[in-house]
Amino acid sequence: MLEIHRVLKLGKNHGGYHGERLDIRAVLAQVEAAAVELGWRSEAFHSEESHELLALTRPAARITEHAPRFYISTGIHGDEPAGPLAALRLLRENHWPEQAEIVLLPCLNPVGFAHNRRENSQGMDLNRDFLQPQSPEIKAHVAWLEKQAAFTLCLCLHEDWESHGFYVYELNPDGRPSLAETMVAGVAKVCPIDPSAVIEGREAVGGIIRPQLDPRTRPLWPESFWLLQHKTRLSYTLEAPSDFPLQVRVNALVAGVKSALA
Ligand SMILES: [Zn+2]
Repeated sequence: MLEIHRVLKLGKNHGGYHGERLDIRAVLAQVEAAAVELGWRSEAFHSEESHELLALTRPAARITEHAPRFYISTGIHGDEPAGPLAALRLLRENHWPEQAEIVLLPCLNPVGFAHNRRENSQGMDLNRDFLQPQSPEIKAHVAWLEKQAAFTLCLCLHEDWESHGFYVYELNPDGRPSLAETMVAGVAKVCPIDPSAVIEGREAVGGIIRPQLDPRTRPLWPESFWLLQHKTRLSYTLEAPSDFPLQVRVNALVAGVKSALA
């Protein structure tokens, strides 16, 4: 593992992300083209500085009462390019569980990407705005989410510029069968896993963080808290290490999603 670190870590990130940027308009045009070609439903639920926020849906092969619904979102931080690229790759590869409905939000903060910054144009970290949304992006996102049926599983794709490898946060308050180990095993084939005992101030084991917390006691809600309170009982936040080459990070997020849905 340490050998891989030495080979792959670029050492570019000091005090923030200083790696590759993304032409978000071009990437989202490719995302939408791929989705439409493959028969997905595409809905723009908001527009910000002429960038659309898209929700893409692929119906289950057969509509049944118990068809699982999987939610995947990314691009809420404009300095995390691997997420929207992973969404594009997953769409193009088009390997999804047949009996499941898939909902994919490929970029929640396109303006952030256009400005190459984590926050939106008003300087707000959108992934802290879910308790009482103030930003136009999250107001629109939550209004859209409120119209959705519950999700079997939610995956939020991110990157962390400080991390030493991939890791995942699990929110699983009912103690359902965990997908975290499966995800980490899948990702380990393409990307180092962060071996740290403490990540982002939380205890971690083998790249897995299982925070013991009650979202209702926290003031700054990320997307995963809102989803857990309103739409799911099982949520994972996947974090790719953004000091590694972009292709490795995209591979990591793609492998994590595929392992979770398999
Ligand atoms: Zn993030």
